Amino acid sequence: MKDPWKEKIMCMIQCPRCGSSLKAEDERILSVYDHEPVCMKCKGEEEKRPDYADVSKMMIGQCLIDTEMAYSDPGGYCYHHFYPYKC
Ligand SMILES: [Zn+2]
Repeated sequence: MKDPWKEKIMCMIQCPRCGSSLKAEDERILSVYDHEPVCMKCKGEEEKRPDYADVSKMMIGQCLIDTEMAYSDPGGYCYHHFYPYKC
């Protein structure tokens, strides 16, 4: 079964947030704010936001309910909000 988010993050050649281009070997990660794949630079910016801790906590709770997956499930949707995805 193919997950739509995986295809999105895998095929991303440009960060939708900052517009910087991504090579196949560049890491990308899902935003905890809008669940869109972003580059690591944008993720760094997100982490500096004062509400990041709260938003990510809420997001992970909701994600586990939605996907019925364990947080530690490697390669899972929830997981890649916190761990970079590499093609
Ligand atoms: Zn970016």
